[in-house]
Amino acid sequence: MMSYPEVHLHIDGRWIEKTTSGFLPIANPADEAVLGRFPVAGEAELAAARQAARRAFATWSATPAFDRYGVIAKAAALLRERAGRIARILTLEQGKPLAESSREVLLSADIIDFLAQEARRLASRGVPPRSAGVASQTVMRVPVGPVAAFTPWNFPVNLPARKLGGALAAGCSVIIKPDEETPASCMELVRCFADAGLPAGVLNMVLGRPAEIADALIASPEIAKVSFTGSTAVGRMLAEKSARHLKRYTAELGGHAPVIVCGDADPVATAALAVVAKFRGAGQVCASPVRFLVHRSIYAAFREAFVAGARALRVGAGVDDGVQMGPLIARRRVQEMARLVDDALANGALLLCGGTRLARPGFFFEPTVLEAALPHCRVQQEEPFGPIALLDAFDDLEEAIARANALPYGLAAYAFTRDLGTANRLSASLQAGMVGINHFGISQPETPFGGIKDSGMGSESGLEGLLEYTDVKFVSVAA
Ligand code: NAD
Repeated sequence: MMSYPEVHLHIDGRWIEKTTSGFLPIANPADEAVLGRFPVAGEAELAAARQAARRAFATWSATPAFDRYGVIAKAAALLRERAGRIARILTLEQGKPLAESSREVLLSADIIDFLAQEARRLASRGVPPRSAGVASQTVMRVPVGPVAAFTPWNFPVNLPARKLGGALAAGCSVIIKPDEETPASCMELVRCFADAGLPAGVLNMVLGRPAEIADALIASPEIAKVSFTGSTAVGRMLAEKSARHLKRYTAELGGHAPVIVCGDADPVATAALAVVAKFRGAGQVCASPVRFLVHRSIYAAFREAFVAGARALRVGAGVDDGVQMGPLIARRRVQEMARLVDDALANGALLLCGGTRLARPGFFFEPTVLEAALPHCRVQQEEPFGPIALLDAFDDLEEAIARANALPYGLAAYAFTRDLGTANRLSASLQAGMVGINHFGISQPETPFGGIKDSGMGSESGLEGLLEYTDVKFVSVAA
């Protein structure tokens, strides 16, 4: 059994083992035992990180994209090489099954690689001048400046990889604050960059008290851009702070994804795909399908297959063989699941399976399926961010689309149909940043990931994710 690493901060190329602000503990969600601890960044560390990021930006932004690619590609290669060890650390602190952690680490390497390659061919645009005396007009993309990045605990390698991949490839320096519940995964990613030869100060990692760190970084003149992934409530707060200081801002927030299963879809095959998508990461995925709206003609068959699939899932510690769903991140999330289920049941919902925490140490909650929860109950309105699926029948497609679009969220939406016309209609009318028709695979290194409405602003990954870390600069040259 491999031990959990000592967690350090990384500032100006140095690993910081302790600070004058003390330590905070890190728990293993699968058994509630203390895994380790991390040093809390105080004012001195935050100031040092800001100055390092400011200094390093001057040189890194002036480094040719081709040379930046060399360093970043090496970091991606190290991440692949170390995937087995990092996946284990990820599972220990986050809880998800080892196979999921391995996929996350390897996909993160692909994301980093793709963004750095894309930066090598970031094209400027020439605009024909109006006047004879003007020789050239060029619209170019320049790195936005030092970035403050905040990432959550549900994908502790992948979400930092999207932000670091885009920012570093574009020529920005970064101060990243990963989630304090899963800090070692991100630290190992940062170590790959450091070992690949990223110059000191280009990438800094701090940990501590999130609100204090956010305040200290966003208000500071050294930081040009803020990128956050997490809850809509926190994302809104950071948007306000960023706006006050006129900082560029990208936010990838919560979702409450609908899934419309039309009458011409195969109910059993669709349910099999849906169970895997729903309970991946124990449902702690922003694009997780939540509201399954199934045409009445196939509803009974879908429900039977979905509930059987949910019941059959093997729940346990992510490090154990054959486990398909791990624990939730913390006790507060288990308590929240119980509250959401109780509220739904009090509002007439039917419990088809699950509904309670497992009677064992660790933050385990059963795969849960609720039927006909009333539209006003909490779980129909608020992102559950856990292993709860809501099943409902519909008669008319228009009604299903209206229900799908009824919430303020707009991250992901899914639909299943064999009819091309219906697929086109659903693609056009579902209000979401990402729509998956006949599958759930909407997150790829090459494609933009992001939401509309209350689910955020801007994109990550894909060319769009790179452009988030650039400003537009127009240069006009007279002869
Ligand atoms: P939370 O709102 O307390 O925290 C969400 C994230 O924001 C965490 O990573 C946390 O460290 C960070 N955070 C909190 N306050 C902050 C601040 N002032 N400045 C900077 N970062 C701050 O919720 P939670 O209990 O950890 O998670 C549950 C909720 O979070 C879910 O309902 C879900 O909506 C959301 N969430 C979303 C994602 C996502 O990928 N979109 C990821 C994790 C959590």
